[in-house]
Amino acid sequence: MHEGGCACGAVRYEAGEDTVRVTHCHCLDCRRSSGAPLLTWAEFPVGEFRFIKGEPREYSLRDGTTRTFCPQCGSQLTFVDDDQPAVVDVSVGTLDYPSVVEPEDHVWNSRRLPWLPVADGLPVYDKSRRHE
Ligand SMILES: [Zn+2]
Ligand SMILES: [Zn+2]
Repeated sequence: MHEGGCACGAVRYEAGEDTVRVTHCHCLDCRRSSGAPLLTWAEFPVGEFRFIKGEPREYSLRDGTTRTFCPQCGSQLTFVDDDQPAVVDVSVGTLDYPSVVEPEDHVWNSRRLPWLPVADGLPVYDKSRRHE
């Protein structure tokens, strides 16, 4: 079982034991919303994820997608795509033990910052996996 939460501790969640997929995303939405060069997401079955403390705030950067963040400290917490309602993406940096998950690929490499080379040998997709 994974647990995690935002930087200030106001919002906490728990997620299942096994991730569906772990992905480095280099897209502009993830960069801007996190303030980091890329955002790494751990995908969990939606039925195995729930918030257990606090109320995250929701917003949408694109039709059919929902992101959540802590209204107090701004940590980016989750991403849900209506086209993939069975899973919820959780920002790996907010997990209590992020080192135990294993990233599997990179998406939106076409938006990757050139000073952050990919050298981990993982599959790299120009856009999302679905658009490849
Ligand atoms: Zn917070
Ligand atoms: Zn992204």
